Amino acid sequence: MSTVHASQPWQRMSTAALEALLDAAVDAIVMIDESGAIVSFNNAAETMFGYSAAEVLGQPIQVLMPEPYRSAHASYLENYRATGQKKVIGTGREAAAIHSSGRVFPVWLSVGEARSGTTRGFVGIIRDLSEQRALEEERRALEARLAHVGRFSLMSEMAAGIAHEINQPLSAIVTYSQAARRLLDGKELDTDSLAQACKGISDQAQRAAQVIENLRNFIRKRDAEKRELDLNAVINDAMSLVLADTDRAGIPVSSSFAADLPKIEGNAVQLQQVLLNLTHNAVDALQTPAQRAKGIEIRTFSSTEAGVCFEVRDHGPGVPPQLGEGMFHPFVTTKPEGLGVGLAISRTIVNSHGGTLTYDSNSGGGAVFTVSLPIK
Ligand code: ADP
Repeated sequence: MSTVHASQPWQRMSTAALEALLDAAVDAIVMIDESGAIVSFNNAAETMFGYSAAEVLGQPIQVLMPEPYRSAHASYLENYRATGQKKVIGTGREAAAIHSSGRVFPVWLSVGEARSGTTRGFVGIIRDLSEQRALEEERRALEARLAHVGRFSLMSEMAAGIAHEINQPLSAIVTYSQAARRLLDGKELDTDSLAQACKGISDQAQRAAQVIENLRNFIRKRDAEKRELDLNAVINDAMSLVLADTDRAGIPVSSSFAADLPKIEGNAVQLQQVLLNLTHNAVDALQTPAQRAKGIEIRTFSSTEAGVCFEVRDHGPGVPPQLGEGMFHPFVTTKPEGLGVGLAISRTIVNSHGGTLTYDSNSGGGAVFTVSLPIK
């Protein structure tokens, strides 16, 4: 606090000039004497509290305070007089004030002490925080709304993902049951083929159950169970499912498995889901008979830099360049019936394995998707 020297003109300032200064202030300035009675009330205070100065001069300062401040104030003053301990003086704090209408509003209160000889009083500078609070409240409400939207879009993403993952085994079940129906209608019962169709139905139903189990695990643990895996075996075990998809479209599939592949840690069903998504996309991309004839290549390989990898290569048109990395975003699709979640889900799965899923255009035309997983 700066001290005013006697030689300075401030010291000689008239009461009228001081009042003019107080009234020019934007903040409410209220002075009280030692007993707590209001001795000065500026223009801003009149507007803020809804009282004229004449109405409040001589009144106890508590008229401007709601409970519990009102009851506590007398003991504040008493305590300060007895101990000299300053609670607000010189520091300022947040408090609540009450308007003549009864409306309570938040304020920032700074209090200074004024001494003149043996008499002393207090000057309170009060800033109305209502507008600031309203803005903060609005921001909090907006954040809550955004969080809600975020949760909602996560839920719709998951719902779309489940629909996508369950749809594959369901359509395979439909195909197997139609085949079984045809076999039953045949003149002679081909029990071997019928048994195969039944096995297909049961395998696919188990696969759908496994997808739901994974989802349960995901919700419970946010992570599907991972164990040591041989990637060659994982891919090989899913080949019958890949072929069910490609055979229908008349697309040949060649596979090559690297010898001595290091082990990885992961969830076999999730990785197979990635393989199925990638081959399913390749099937969709191969539109002309010439493209289809060149088929799809699946291979595993490893290197110290890349880790343990598998790739799916096709000879279709390749991913439209305008999609760029956007192809991995949810709901990005160029297909009329597409959901646009296959690549997004696949990348999430691969990332949860500590790996990467990347795209390259095939030098001979077409697409190459590579999954790289860390060596265990
Ligand atoms: P969806 O298959 O439902 O469209 P995806 O996320 O799996 O969703 O794929 C997003 C988009 O990426 C596809 O619509 C397609 O345009 C492109 N794409 C994916 N795989 C291939 C591929 N092998 N060849 C060409 N384009 C592809």
